[in-house]
Amino acid sequence: MSDYRIQGATGDWEVVIGLEVHAQVISNAKLFSGASTEFGAEPNAQVSLVDAAMPGMLPTINGECVRQAVRTGLALGAQINKYSVFDRKNYFYADLPQGYQISQFKHPIVGPGIVTLDLDGGRTKKVGVERIHLEQDAGKSMHDQHPQFTYVDLNRSGVALMEIVSDPDMRSPEEAGAYLTKLRTILRYIGSCDGNMEQGSMRADVNVSVRKVGDPLGTRCEIKNVNSIRFVRQAIEIEASRQVDIIEAGGTIDQETRLFDPVKGETRSMRSKEEAHDYRYFPDPDLLPLEFDDAFIDAARESLPELPDDKKARFINEYGLNDYNASVLVAEKDQSDYFVSLVSALATATKKSESDVAVKASNWLTGDLFGALNKANKSIDETPVSAEQGAELLALVEDGTISGRIAKDVFEIMFDTGKGAASIVEEKGLKQVSDTGEIEKIIDEVIAANPNQLEQYRGGKDKLIGFFVGQVMKATGGKANPGMVNQLLKPKLDG
Ligand code: ADP
Ligand code: MG
Repeated sequence: MSDYRIQGATGDWEVVIGLEVHAQVISNAKLFSGASTEFGAEPNAQVSLVDAAMPGMLPTINGECVRQAVRTGLALGAQINKYSVFDRKNYFYADLPQGYQISQFKHPIVGPGIVTLDLDGGRTKKVGVERIHLEQDAGKSMHDQHPQFTYVDLNRSGVALMEIVSDPDMRSPEEAGAYLTKLRTILRYIGSCDGNMEQGSMRADVNVSVRKVGDPLGTRCEIKNVNSIRFVRQAIEIEASRQVDIIEAGGTIDQETRLFDPVKGETRSMRSKEEAHDYRYFPDPDLLPLEFDDAFIDAARESLPELPDDKKARFINEYGLNDYNASVLVAEKDQSDYFVSLVSALATATKKSESDVAVKASNWLTGDLFGALNKANKSIDETPVSAEQGAELLALVEDGTISGRIAKDVFEIMFDTGKGAASIVEEKGLKQVSDTGEIEKIIDEVIAANPNQLEQYRGGKDKLIGFFVGQVMKATGGKANPGMVNQLLKPKLDG
């Protein structure tokens, strides 16, 4: 694949991208208070005195949020900092009652790590993660509740976020999309964030600059709070072109914060970029430095499940899957769990080894079941066909009870009704006909009914054998064993 370039009047431009992802930590309570974090509550129903910044209230660190940040760091192979510090980041905004956000600046809880992107054609690329720090979310201004006033909902105020900051290692909208996809997969696997971008529990600030290949990094703009992977890709394309146009017209890029408007298909300036010193960061005097020991880290490590990259390698090595199917299956933990159950049930039903049946299982799963789920707009945990039922269907094909063609029809009925494969085959009389005498009888009838085609065949039109196979299959409602039909038909046609 060729590199992604923006073609300008003065030549090709390279795009440089770094992402700051805000991921809401899965925890029952907020970062410094016991208020609930559940999504969808009535406005201001989940606000403690700390979250509302009442005078004299003191924050108390929630150990679960710390544990989740450490688990996330470990899942990215990152350095875990046993000593970190919470700072106050000062700014004024209506949705920020404290007048500052508690964040981490100089001493974040997690240092450098890696995300491995899965790209087209089985290629991979490593993108550096510079740091992860813990911080509080702000509240939400509501502008649509009253004709004159803006309301504020503080339910989100104080909810724990992990800010995951990448190095400027990405070079195309596709790579940025692959980074977010992979990061989301990892966060979901380990259960530290639900990755739900529509509900805002994962959002990205997108830093974009352009340069001629080989030049030093250009000045970047930061596009704030983009809330879908598709929008991230679009925003990068649009912003990079905008920068190229400005530079080629003799202008310079101002480092600024911009907003992406997907309707207008443009980014526009929000404000000029603040520098760190504008925020007057200082260590929060209400909180001690955060310290933990190796035992805490070890326990967090032990709580991690098998990670997607390890699982993918295992599916390829142990089961012989191709790279594509392995990637698709490990993308969601529920999908890979279904696959493992399917392989195990199919091996039991056919008395074969798991590695002998795994490729068949993965083809059926990624093709037939995922196709049907997709069409029905369902996810794997809503599947009407369980792994055991899928295995029952595939076992009927393996032992020759039904053909692969008929299996597709049976699957459709299973998907619509939730019934088992064997009972559908029984009920509808779909068993494959493998009785030589019975098939020969039908072949004789088909030949007798088509004397013209027989004459043409014998006159040298070999291809007509396909016509006869088709007729026999039709006469048996698709149930004749196709291998046997082919074998028995030729000698009879040849006379
Ligand atoms: P800030 O905290 O002010 O936003 P950082 O130095 O932490 O600044 O960088 C934020 C993000 O910007 C990081 O993800 C980083 O990779 C990215 N970044 C830095 N320089 C560039 C650049 N020249 N082009 C694109 N992205 C960049
Ligand atoms: Mg930033």
